[in-house]
Amino acid sequence: MPILQNNDEIILVLDSQCDNSCVFCQNSRLVHGKNTQQLTHDEPDDINTIKCRIRLAKSLGFRKICFTGNEILNRSSIIDLLVFARKLSFTNITVQTTGRKLKNFVFLKKVVTAGANGFHVPIYGSTAKINDAITNSPGSFVDLMEALNNLSRFDLPVTLNGIFLTQNYADIPSLVRLKIEQFPGMRFMIDHYRPHAASLIFYHFLMPRYTKVIRYFKKAVELYTKRYRYHSDLFIYFARYFLSMPFCIINKIDKEMFRCVILKISRGYLVSVKNKDDSFKYTSRRKVVSCSGCVFNSLCLGPYVHYLKAYGSEEFRPIKGA
Ligand code: SF4
Repeated sequence: MPILQNNDEIILVLDSQCDNSCVFCQNSRLVHGKNTQQLTHDEPDDINTIKCRIRLAKSLGFRKICFTGNEILNRSSIIDLLVFARKLSFTNITVQTTGRKLKNFVFLKKVVTAGANGFHVPIYGSTAKINDAITNSPGSFVDLMEALNNLSRFDLPVTLNGIFLTQNYADIPSLVRLKIEQFPGMRFMIDHYRPHAASLIFYHFLMPRYTKVIRYFKKAVELYTKRYRYHSDLFIYFARYFLSMPFCIINKIDKEMFRCVILKISRGYLVSVKNKDDSFKYTSRRKVVSCSGCVFNSLCLGPYVHYLKAYGSEEFRPIKGA
């Protein structure tokens, strides 16, 4: 039962059977062979042990808790655990889910009544064709849309988590349009693909060159700022995930966004990005020769080692003045 910490939030990673088999996931069929099912987990952690950990986290001062791990809503004890967390008075009880089970409104109500008051849900494309090719699971997009419409009926924070890959980068502006038009109040982010040890052989297949992605991100930022404006909370949430990229790439996407996130985001956020990357043995970052002449050399994390191996360093050019 890995337990992670994010400021005053405890993140409980519990084993469970997933509904999807995403191409970038270290448990997916892509990694383990196309004829294997998503790895099966048998809920090995005893519920009393999990409750002890939750109680300990509360006594240590954590106010927020996030339940995650494959598809956490498939875990038979999830309702019991949510009720337990609610009774301990955690202020934020978040569920990170594929969302597929939440197409059932009755089940969603049960989850909310038990104690969940926030959701993180992944979305990888604006159409079933693109999304389902990434989740490797036909029907996942239709289920997700039903779930998001159900979630819209509650006044609860919902975050849509995207990730940019070779398979979807050209669709990013359409994905932003879908979010703006259908789910305008939800938070949205598009994260960077972080190579895991188990999926490194697919890095080149999954991670596009930044140079190819930039024009689509430019359009996405244009659409986003037209709807939400720079410096708004929803824009800052969207923009902060760009900080996983080298700064010379963010600067090429949108200079105002770059200034906006650099001004608003503290060094602490970058430290947390770095810690997250360093926690995967194979995903550390490295500066390139030209970084020494860059004004952001001390703040920027530089490119991923595996990116450099795949594409070289020619895209990274020092920024000469802020
Ligand atoms: S040149 Fe190096 S330090 Fe400067 S922004 Fe690019 S990757 Fe970062």
